[in-house]
Formats: sequence, structure tokens, C-alpha cells
Amino acid sequence: MDRVSFPRMVELDVVTGLPPRKMLDHDLPVLLRSMGTAGLPMCSIMIDIDHFKKFNDRYGHDIGDLVLKHVSSIIREAVKFRGEAYRYGGEEITVLMLNSSGPEGLATAERICSAVENSVVKAVVRGKEQPLSIQISLGVASTGSVAGSELIVCSDQALYNAKSAGRNQAVLFKKGNSKDVSTTVIDVHFPSRSAILGGNYILLKKWFSFSNPTDIEAREIKDPNTDSSEFADGPPPPYGFVKAEIRGRVSEIERRGNHTYFKFEVKSEIIDLMFKYIQDTRNAAN
Ligand code: GH3
Ligand code: MG
Ligand code: MG
Repeated sequence: MDRVSFPRMVELDVVTGLPPRKMLDHDLPVLLRSMGTAGLPMCSIMIDIDHFKKFNDRYGHDIGDLVLKHVSSIIREAVKFRGEAYRYGGEEITVLMLNSSGPEGLATAERICSAVENSVVKAVVRGKEQPLSIQISLGVASTGSVAGSELIVCSDQALYNAKSAGRNQAVLFKKGNSKDVSTTVIDVHFPSRSAILGGNYILLKKWFSFSNPTDIEAREIKDPNTDSSEFADGPPPPYGFVKAEIRGRVSEIERRGNHTYFKFEVKSEIIDLMFKYIQDTRNAAN
């Protein structure tokens, strides 16, 4: 897979001077994978200019374009080398920031918010030069707490919350305390290197347990976000593999040499099934 380095050397969008949307679509999965392999989080910051429609109506589309370019260059400069800003569409900009937790992403977003608010665009309005002030709203999400496949959606949700809270601010995505399903945490050992990311839902496709279902070893895992499977070798388990797949959410990943350890959060009702699977393989082996 090709590598991505910042700042992105590609043909830039004419209006904003940013890499275009198709570059964002290309880079996101590549970066999710490389950050995952390195065991590092990454952030998405979704940005939208406040009351831009009024701005266009009052000063005209050309000055609107000027403002969009001005805002874009402040944002791109603010994340230089650590990330990249892309034109998401219209007057919306997406920033991808590498090796950044949610709080770090939020701190950057707040810095960008102030930088834009404290800047002025000098525009010639009806023959007279006039300083214009602009404000933006920002939403932040990090793979430290959300699945890679949900990064953009969650930062967009946070942007919506920033707008609702009064605009001209940055908001970090927080999971709503929607219907709490009871979950149980399992310790998983995968005897190989893995590119899994904390926060992601993945499938354990081939696994076994020596003693109880909350302490298992996996030999095949699949990440539906990237549609990739990972395999690990090792001595055959005493009673064979459980081949029924289980789905859960990854957290607390620890990488030690050629081993990956992580916590795996599953619906509590699955534990009973896992007991049964383990028992069945054991009976089949005897
Ligand atoms: P808010 O985001 O604060 O809710 O209000 P808004 O007025 O900015 O609302 P919205 O985001 O829906 O409006 C987007 C406006 O941005 C509408 C469109 O005319 C303008 N726009 C989008 N792309 C461009 C562009 O490339 N150039 C200019 N000049 N305007 C653009
Ligand atoms: Mg908009
Ligand atoms: Mg807007």
C-alpha cells in the first residue's frame, strides 16, 4: 500500500488551495491502517464556516471565495507536518491529524478556532477596503474512542453539536449514553503483530481458550472496517479451534514483540455461547 506524507503534494482544489475530497477518501484508509499498525491514535476535525450564506449574500460570491481561501490556509498551516486539511465539500474542511488523541485534537481545533477569529481578511467592498471577521465551528473525533470507520461521522456529529452550542467553538465527540447494553471484557492474546485499532469493532474468527472464555487466544481476526484479515501461527490448541466468530470492540492494545494483547468488549450474552463453543470443541476432541 502506498504511503502518505504531509503536506500532501497533489493537485490542489482551486478555490481553497487544499487537497480535494478525492484525496481525503484515498488517504483516510491508508492512514487508519498505518496508525493502527503503529498503535497510535488519529483525529478527524470537521470544520464549517459560521453563517457563510449570509456572508455570501452580503458581500458576494467572489469575496466568499476569498474568505474560504483565507480560512483554508490558516487551517492548513496550523496542522502542517502533523496532518493535512482537505476540502470536504462546499465550505466544509476536514483535517486528519496523526498520532493525536481526542484532547490533543481538541486543543488543535481550539487553536485553529481562535486563529481564524483573530485574523482579518481585507476585502474591497463597494470600492472600499474593509476588514472582515470570520468565525468557524469545529468537531473533533479520535480513534482513541471511536471506530476508524466512524471517525468522519463522529467528528461531523461533534461539529453539529458545536453549531447548536452557539458556533465559534470546537467540540470533542462524546458517545451519547444511548441504551446501555451490558458488556463483558475479555483478555485476548494474538501471537503476532496486528494493525487493529482501539475503538474498532472486529471479529475473532478462529480462537480457543485454555480455561475460561474471558481469557482467550485468537489466531485469526478480521477488521470489517478495512476488510482485512490477520493470521497468527502457533502450536495447535489442545482441543482444536473454536471456529464460531465473535464480534466485539477492541481497547487497551499492548504490543510486545511479535505478540498483541488487547481487551475485547463483547455483549454479556455472548459469554454463555462462548462457554458452549468451548465445551463443544472439547467434547468433539475427546
Ligand atoms: P452555519 O454553517 O453557521 O449553520 O450557516 P451557513 O450559512 O454557513 O450554512 P451552510 O453551511 O448550510 O451554508 C453553506 C453556504 O456556503 C452556502 C453556499 O452558498 C456557501 N458556499 C459553499 N461553497 C462555497 C464556495 O465555494 N464559495 C462560496 N463563496 N460560497 C460557498
Ligand atoms: Mg456547511
Ligand atoms: Mg456554514
